[in-house]
Amino acid sequence: MYLYNSATHKKEEFQTHTPGRVEMYTCGPTVYHYAHIGNLRSYIMEDVLEKFLRYEGYDVNRVMNITDVGHLASDADTGEDKMLKGAKRENKSVMDIAKFYTDAFFDDCAKLNIKTPEVVQPATGLIDEFIRVVSGLIDKGYAYVAGGNVYFDTSRLDHYYVFNDHDEEDLAVGVREGVEEDQNKRNKNDFVLWFTKSKFEDQALKWDSPWGVGYPGWHIECSCISMKFNGEYLDLHCGGVDNAFPHHTNEIAQSEAYLGHPWCAQWFHVHHLNTNSGKMSKSKGEFLTVSLLEEKGYDPLAYRFFCLQSHYRKGLVFSWENLDNAAGAYNKLVKRIAALKGGDGEIDREAAARFKEKFLTQVGNDLNTSMGITCLYDVLKAPVNDVTKRAVLADFDQVLSLSLLEKAAQLREKEAAQAKTSGADGFTIQGEGDPAIDALVLQRAQAKKAKNFAEADRIRDELKAQGIEVTDVPGGAVWKRI
Ligand SMILES: [Zn+2]
Repeated sequence: MYLYNSATHKKEEFQTHTPGRVEMYTCGPTVYHYAHIGNLRSYIMEDVLEKFLRYEGYDVNRVMNITDVGHLASDADTGEDKMLKGAKRENKSVMDIAKFYTDAFFDDCAKLNIKTPEVVQPATGLIDEFIRVVSGLIDKGYAYVAGGNVYFDTSRLDHYYVFNDHDEEDLAVGVREGVEEDQNKRNKNDFVLWFTKSKFEDQALKWDSPWGVGYPGWHIECSCISMKFNGEYLDLHCGGVDNAFPHHTNEIAQSEAYLGHPWCAQWFHVHHLNTNSGKMSKSKGEFLTVSLLEEKGYDPLAYRFFCLQSHYRKGLVFSWENLDNAAGAYNKLVKRIAALKGGDGEIDREAAARFKEKFLTQVGNDLNTSMGITCLYDVLKAPVNDVTKRAVLADFDQVLSLSLLEKAAQLREKEAAQAKTSGADGFTIQGEGDPAIDALVLQRAQAKKAKNFAEADRIRDELKAQGIEVTDVPGGAVWKRI
């Protein structure tokens, strides 16, 4: 496939270090609160990317961290500790908060059909590894101890601004955001690898280290977790675009300094979900969660559909009206699939292969998910039998994960339960609410009653040709599509 690489600022042919295998890393959530649907947009798009790579035949090893320590309110090591903030807000221990919101995150993911990565590693479970890598960075001269903390020395690098979509002035603002300058830093962009001199008297989680009792910085956890579970060469690193600086920039700095060779070849950044008043965040306006969507009567998969309708490298504007439109389109799509018949012949393998080729090309062009959705409509419109359509849609849905056939089956069951038609003489027909079929079933019953068995058989065969099976039951008949 072709994928835009934010490290090179170009769309490139996707390649892996080991043929056929993708080492993929995703920055996981900081588990101090519910994820808002803007964060979940990134995870949805990353999920489609992973599934598309698998669909192309790659074996994917996907690794994700859970940040349960060390992420301060500003991404640049300043402000309050996010976990501590969550614990204080809810009057619980930091570990309880971490457990609760980790579970909540994966519940949300399940509702959105986001697959759980092969490896999910909470930061607190790998402290010894962080200490080992930080020690290594000090030994190699890339890190220094000052004022009780360990810092990465960015002046030791030839290149620091890898994602230079940012200019230096923006970076300076990013670092300043919200807080006081740390006087221990030798260079403005140096960042903390290990805190011992905590600003927080009540820092709950602390570990012994060669530099004193403390806790790791946020950036080091992703490098260490990836190097441990993905190996020394990472093929694909994903995250929200707001993590490009300083988080991902710092991940590259410390990983390459530690390894002594290039680390991650391809960077995939998902752009923001915006509201009409700007970037969605936890602190601004309505706090939009998956639970809130459900409370308002939306199927979480309608939100997934909404995200897939636009490109991951464009900001997406969320409004209830936009979501309504997406939900309407999703329901209509499911309805059209529910109306497809079964049993109308063999799968047209040639047509299916043509559809697949088109889907691979379209979605493989920088993960163009909206073209992936267009492919679904193209299949529905195509002059092929319904069996082929159903097979192709099910195939594409391995990537899009919109539960299309499952939702269609649920809809048909629902309609069947509602569609009890009473004919003459109290004859009851139970089917899927199709009046034309009901009429034929009734005609067949009347023919049988009149002992016109040839006509009854003829109608049964006619129904069968349409993929309908009729079963006689006391007082009526039941029909279903086969
Ligand atoms: Zn990360």
